[in-house]
Amino acid sequence: MIYKYSLSFKIITFLVLSFAYQLAFGQVKKHHHKIAPATAVTSVPGFKFKTIIIDAGHGGKDPGAHGAYSKEKNVALAIAKKLRTALTEQVPSLNVVMTRTTDNFIELHRRDDIASENKGNLFISIHCNATAQKTDSERGVLLLVYGYHRKGEQLEAIRENASIYIEKDYQQKYSGYGENSAINAIVLSAFQQKFRKQCIQFADLVNHEFKSVDGRHSLGVKEQGVLVLQQSAMPAVLVETGFINNPKDEDYLNSADGQAEIVQSIIRAVKKYKQSFEDQQ
Ligand SMILES: [Zn+2]
Repeated sequence: MIYKYSLSFKIITFLVLSFAYQLAFGQVKKHHHKIAPATAVTSVPGFKFKTIIIDAGHGGKDPGAHGAYSKEKNVALAIAKKLRTALTEQVPSLNVVMTRTTDNFIELHRRDDIASENKGNLFISIHCNATAQKTDSERGVLLLVYGYHRKGEQLEAIRENASIYIEKDYQQKYSGYGENSAINAIVLSAFQQKFRKQCIQFADLVNHEFKSVDGRHSLGVKEQGVLVLQQSAMPAVLVETGFINNPKDEDYLNSADGQAEIVQSIIRAVKKYKQSFEDQQ
């Protein structure tokens, strides 16, 4: 089995697919630097929304962020597993695939391979946010989608991408990594044409549930250069479920009630997102 095909091969595949997509549907869009309001997704004949990939951030030797008493890798895994269980029960037609189910280290590109191999229709990555210094200076949720990013406006992406530095041979695997690299622009261009609208639509739905039903404070939906989202061959959203180094958020993130609220909000958003495809069939 060949898992480790190169980033450049992926990019070529991506470009070919996106060119074919343009030929088929005549879709040519300009780059947008700001997030536009989500509209109905593009109807693709024969498309079935079948498989969701749930990605618990970090793991093993990569603990992610930490609070006073808990680590991001453990909180993310706990929420991800509850999400899998609840989704399987509440939306039985969906196939749910996890990138990890134990406390092990999975390289970012491998997470993407798992998603592609399982032909995912949506990739949901579960994380916790953290501020660099003060413990209670920030709180609430944030939804990240892959997109254009300006220097100084992608704190979360830089933190979440740091996992690669403990991977072996990361320079080879992520040779395109860097804010201003040409490779980023190429991937983004293909990505924007294909999935950007769907990513923002799903992120908006999750954000709405967190705010309106759970009463969570929200930092909104942002586009940043998040590597685990960049390489996905499907719409992908990273959910920062709360600030683990904010004492109130940390308690919420570790509580059964808090985790259940987060899970149910994501599931309501999944149902609405799935319904938006089915309405168009
Ligand atoms: Zn994280």
